Amino acid sequence: MSTNANFEKFDPRSGEVLASYKNFSQDEVFEVVEEAHNAAIRWQEFGFTARKRVLLRWASYITKNQKQISQLIESECGKPLGDATLEVSIAIDHISWAAKHAQQIMRRQDRPSGLLMFNMKAQVQRSPVGVVGVIGPWNYPIFTPMGSIAYALAAGNAVVFKPSEFTPGVGKWLADSFAQVAPFENILTTVTGLADTGKALTQSRVNKISFTGSTRTAKKVAASCAESMIPVVLECGGKDPVIVEKDADIKLAAEYALWSAMANAGQSCIGAERVYVVESVAEEFIDVITKMAKDLKVGKDYGPATMPSQLQVIQSHLDNAASKGAKFLVGGSDSIKGAFVEPVIMIDVPEDSTAMTEETFGPTLAINKVTNTDEAIRLSNASNYGLAAAVFSKRNGEKIASQLACGMVSINSVFLFAAIASVPFGGIKNSGYGRIHGAEGLLEYTYARTVVKTRFKIPLKFTSFKRTKLSEKVLTTLIKKIHGRNLKNKS
Ligand code: NAD
Repeated sequence: MSTNANFEKFDPRSGEVLASYKNFSQDEVFEVVEEAHNAAIRWQEFGFTARKRVLLRWASYITKNQKQISQLIESECGKPLGDATLEVSIAIDHISWAAKHAQQIMRRQDRPSGLLMFNMKAQVQRSPVGVVGVIGPWNYPIFTPMGSIAYALAAGNAVVFKPSEFTPGVGKWLADSFAQVAPFENILTTVTGLADTGKALTQSRVNKISFTGSTRTAKKVAASCAESMIPVVLECGGKDPVIVEKDADIKLAAEYALWSAMANAGQSCIGAERVYVVESVAEEFIDVITKMAKDLKVGKDYGPATMPSQLQVIQSHLDNAASKGAKFLVGGSDSIKGAFVEPVIMIDVPEDSTAMTEETFGPTLAINKVTNTDEAIRLSNASNYGLAAAVFSKRNGEKIASQLACGMVSINSVFLFAAIASVPFGGIKNSGYGRIHGAEGLLEYTYARTVVKTRFKIPLKFTSFKRTKLSEKVLTTLIKKIHGRNLKNKS
């Protein structure tokens, strides 16, 4: 039984209670954040080389215990063990990348001081922000928060992690495993709990919040953080399109689009939810993907909905699409069976139905035919979301990608940008802002400090009450010379 002090976590496949976890109160969260501040000072002083050693040992520890953590993910999320293992592998790779690249990314940079300030040396330094609060979702309970945790730690921050209440065990395991390699306490702490625990983190003395979850919660997090000017990274939902061009490898497109839509029971922020297929190849594409979808085995190829309340959202999107005239080629409004959802493939789905406008987060895929690529791009970009997209085309992939309003595009593949640690991950519009992964992601957990220094004295002073008429004249003459010429160039 859940109480205020504790809450229970169920196996979504059987409903069986797995364990009970502490529901951290606001005061307890504040206390943890204070302790993290002390640890942050020591962790920063520890230096890049020593931090790298700790993080690489952590990556090795997780690798050694990969089976244990994968099984925990399997039981908390209900996803197949193979999917959990894949997720853990990618998370390990991110730790290693962040550990090895932090020093180079945060190196001091000399910048040109410009003609006006030619006697100055200009430099940009990078410092960790201090304590980063990471709030995570349940759908990829190790991969997703690791995109913030590993990069924040590598940059020299302490981290307080609030995992989803649907995957508290994985969150606790992360902090416990880090403790096995940590040189001292409180560098990475997990605070388990419900929504109020997350809220407490946004009201605490953290220096940054890195949130991954729904757009609805992201807005609350951003509003709460605004009260005390805490900067935020928001990684939210998506309504990712797949574009299938007439020169696409149709079998490959169908195979990947289906996996992208249905793997993890469709509970992927970067999962395909809409397909725009060019008319001339639409029949073939629909035929192939429909056959493949009919072969999927629910409970083996993917598990149940991890969060029971999502089933109502999926049902409402299916009903809405049906009432607006969508045709169901696989499954339909009756595809929800207990906690499991059978595959659903719909075609001719009206663009204004919720199945096309809102994140469904279930194993459903809407396929609409388009007359040409321009229409596919226009419809893809018409969404309020802008997380990721996939393009299938032998010749035009990069050209199409460059016109898509979203944070990530994969060509003739799906998802794989998430496994490439050097590239940033994140979205635009309702999909959030800020980035995790890559240099951009690491820099999110730092701040820039500009330092300028006089290299040699010149007889002119600009920032003094002793400024002379001569200084002013030199300044205006120089400005004229540097910037005054362009009006002559009419074209
Ligand atoms: P959610 O918004 O319900 O919860 C996310 C986290 O926020 C949980 O830990 C929750 O306890 C916490 N929370 C809830 N209310 C809060 C509040 N008022 N203040 C602070 N924290 C609060 O999301 P979810 O259902 O756990 O995750 C699924 C969503 O996450 C989907 O929309 C999915 O697309 C998105 N997601 C995005 C990415 C990405 O990188 N863009 C990755 C994975 C998942």
